[in-house]
Amino acid sequence: MASSTPDPPGHRQVQDEQAYLLLEQLRWAGRPATCPHCSAPGRGYLLRPATGVRRTRTGADTGRRLWKCGACRRQFSVLTGTVLQGTRVPLPAWIAAVELFLSSDGPVTATQVSRATGLGREAARHVLARWQAAATVEPLCDVPGVRPQLFQG
Ligand SMILES: [Zn+2]
Repeated sequence: MASSTPDPPGHRQVQDEQAYLLLEQLRWAGRPATCPHCSAPGRGYLLRPATGVRRTRTGADTGRRLWKCGACRRQFSVLTGTVLQGTRVPLPAWIAAVELFLSSDGPVTATQVSRATGLGREAARHVLARWQAAATVEPLCDVPGVRPQLFQG
């Protein structure tokens, strides 16, 4: 049964990379038009790890997609300059939480976020609070179907 089969090796990395690709498509239409650090137009290029596998500082495989600016030489990702910059929560979990907000008819709780994302309760509370803060600033409020009152701890 699919639900009882463990994830194959690399499944998490594939999910991460797909999440990055989705956000790159949404934010940049596929590739960065300008560098988020120096605003140089069209100078960003994708960094591909020499071994084919990107690893985090702790040595774990990651599907994170890193770009580098040919003008200022600094690295960035699609998360740079967003509320998700520096997050340790896997990107697919953030996206799953947004899907939950979009499909919910009422206020979303941390317990629901935990169930939908597989995150522990503390991480789920963090995700909910971060989206709640972002929604009060504005961007998520502009997404059709997302209403600020859905974000309740
Ligand atoms: Zn730059």
